[in-house]
Amino acid sequence: MRNDPLAFLGNELESLKQQGLYRKLRILEGRPEAHTTFDHRSVVNLSSNNYLGLTTHPKLISAAAEAAEKYGVGSGAVRTISGTLAMHMELEQRLARFKHVESVVVFQSGFAANAGTVAAVLTKDDVVVSDELNHASIIDGCRLSRASIKVFPHKDVDAARKILKELPPAQRKLLITDGVFSMDGDLGRVPELSALAEEFGAIMMVDDAHASGVFGKNGSGTVDHFKCHGRVDIQVGTLSKAIGVLGGYVAGSRTLIEFLYHRARPFLFSTSHPPAVTAACLAALDILETEPQWIERLWDNTRFFKAGLEKLGFNTGMSESPITPVIVGQAATAAKMSDTLFNRGVFAQSIGFPTVARDKARLRTIVAATHTTEDLQYALDTFAAVGRELGVI
Ligand code: PMP
Repeated sequence: MRNDPLAFLGNELESLKQQGLYRKLRILEGRPEAHTTFDHRSVVNLSSNNYLGLTTHPKLISAAAEAAEKYGVGSGAVRTISGTLAMHMELEQRLARFKHVESVVVFQSGFAANAGTVAAVLTKDDVVVSDELNHASIIDGCRLSRASIKVFPHKDVDAARKILKELPPAQRKLLITDGVFSMDGDLGRVPELSALAEEFGAIMMVDDAHASGVFGKNGSGTVDHFKCHGRVDIQVGTLSKAIGVLGGYVAGSRTLIEFLYHRARPFLFSTSHPPAVTAACLAALDILETEPQWIERLWDNTRFFKAGLEKLGFNTGMSESPITPVIVGQAATAAKMSDTLFNRGVFAQSIGFPTVARDKARLRTIVAATHTTEDLQYALDTFAAVGRELGVI
């Protein structure tokens, strides 16, 4: 028998275990709701991006079921061959109106939208100027583009300006930030960076994955929240989080979108969404436009929970959104706290390196519109007890 050539992977996993970075997948047995069952345990779920509870909204479920019944369960091809459905075009037109842009293209995921777009737009002769905490899909897109990558310290507009100033004026530049940073819950400096992009002739791009359905009018994103319409050339949104389904999209000019049809590799080389996904996304847009109470409840819950954690003395960093980190430092402490909370009915996932810096391990909490006050109070009481037992507060 030959030696297993993949044995080194086992050593890597062993080392992750020793650092408290090994992740066991939690298995969801109930519905993806604010209070549900994972691993045979009923828990308050603070680890889902289902901000508005739309994953199980009856209108989305029936739209998906009807579309599957009528059109089948798959699209059969990539968009550029025979996989563009009339419904795909309808969703894109609807999103373009929602975002106040000329055009939108939908990708299979937010990840594919970011990575596919950055890699398509830039070449090896170009430069990306990127916030150090931007999402992995942006980082991968930058690497795939082979452009040179200049990273500025988190939200440091002066540092970004310094980088831009030193670059040759004729060189093509992309300035890019998350709208909401996924591990800290703070907002990108969209207005200040847009002004820099204007000053230095850079392309301005914002990844609004965690702002879609959460910030701006009817949840249309940070560009609306900051009143920056017309100043951001490329907006990415996701359909996988507050929208409750799956997918990502790019919003911008007609030229940008047609270019992506020809050059964005996930669009060209990976099968498009099935009808049920697209129909559910359309139903979600109806709800964003006609049921504002979900976003209001999300923000009421956010204020309540954030204030509760802060009052207990937890380090919640610089969050400005429904994502509130509880920063504990060492990965092993975060993992222990997360496991203990889980055993007492609160699911708050621990996050460690490389997703966050080594000394900034945390539990990431995300409230939803559909948490009850009892759910959130129970979670706060349990955080208080476990935090004290582990010496975190
Ligand atoms: N951008 C950010 C900031 C994200 O947090 C995520 C999701 N983890 C994505 C992009 C990717 O979105 P999706 O899950 O739709 O691929």
